[in-house]
Amino acid sequence: MQNNVRLRLFSNIVIVYMLLALAWWSFLLFTKNRDAFISKVELQKLVMIANNEIQTDEAFLASPIYQNLLKKYQRQEWMILGEALVFAIILVIGIWFINRGYNQQVNTAQLSRNFLLSITHELKSPIASIQLVLETLKKRQLNEAQIKKLSHNALQDTNRLNTLVNDLLLAAKVETAYRPHIETISLSTLLPELISKLQHRHPTANFDFRQSKEDISMAGDLTGITSVVMNLLENAVKYSHQTKPAIVTSLREVGEKVSIQFADNGIGIPDKEKNKVFERFYRVGNEDTRQTKGTGLGLYIVDQIIKAHQGSITVSDNRPQGSIFTINLPKEQG
Ligand code: ATP
Ligand code: MG
Repeated sequence: MQNNVRLRLFSNIVIVYMLLALAWWSFLLFTKNRDAFISKVELQKLVMIANNEIQTDEAFLASPIYQNLLKKYQRQEWMILGEALVFAIILVIGIWFINRGYNQQVNTAQLSRNFLLSITHELKSPIASIQLVLETLKKRQLNEAQIKKLSHNALQDTNRLNTLVNDLLLAAKVETAYRPHIETISLSTLLPELISKLQHRHPTANFDFRQSKEDISMAGDLTGITSVVMNLLENAVKYSHQTKPAIVTSLREVGEKVSIQFADNGIGIPDKEKNKVFERFYRVGNEDTRQTKGTGLGLYIVDQIIKAHQGSITVSDNRPQGSIFTINLPKEQG
């Protein structure tokens, strides 16, 4: 970071220096050009007076020779101005491009750092806890209840690992090889099913399902759509930081599209982060200070799957607090 700031400062100084130098050289050229013009005019006047071609200043100013000199001088002035402007514009455009590339580099570096930190944590902690469980089972004589509890924990950790690895694979796949396998999906059936699965996982959460009419369906990829819904619902629970989070899923038909909304009363997403959360590995806040677990892959996968279905996803604020994720999907794949 320190290096970045220094580099920024240095490049800004160079840019300012270049612009100042440009202004200074243009100014110098202007004055030199004017000096040359005045000397030429004076010389010409002396020659003409000596040759008795003119008597007064007015006669000289009206003479074609003076007029020619004046025209040439003015043309040169415009030329200097034009060149300076073109140079400045090219310089600014160049700087803009360089800056943009630089910012992208910094962002990518930040994202991969975030990813590395979270992935190491996400991989290491379940492995460590499974190891601990196995060592305990090996060393100690435990009763049935204790064994059950330990193996339950270990199983939970293997599940976590499994989800993580699947997410990583899915993320790699959605970028290149993902083609939705289209079939008719009854959202009116699928959504309550997935919600009850999550209800099982988070017994204290308060899930609510609403639909504008019975039996809404669409043509899409069942695995993909399931992954989208699970990711959004998991996020809604995870980023509520409450013991009893309330999550409302609403399904509607709008013309040739279906719209699904997931509304929570959680911590919400600041405006300037709203677009970024769909980027790969992006997580709000700083990895070092963040409490919740995750890799920042979920919403990226969601976004890619929805794009592959020619749909769209947006996020807005819920009232009084929380976020609403809205997805729009065409009923038929064109
Ligand atoms: P995982 O890959 O395990 O899903 P993740 O949940 O951190 O990890 P995403 O699902 O891509 O990753 O979410 C990206 C970020 O967007 C989250 O880290 C969180 O900061 C923010 N976010 C996502 N959903 C919500 C929500 N419902 N409320 C508030 N913030 C959210
Ligand atoms: Mg997530």
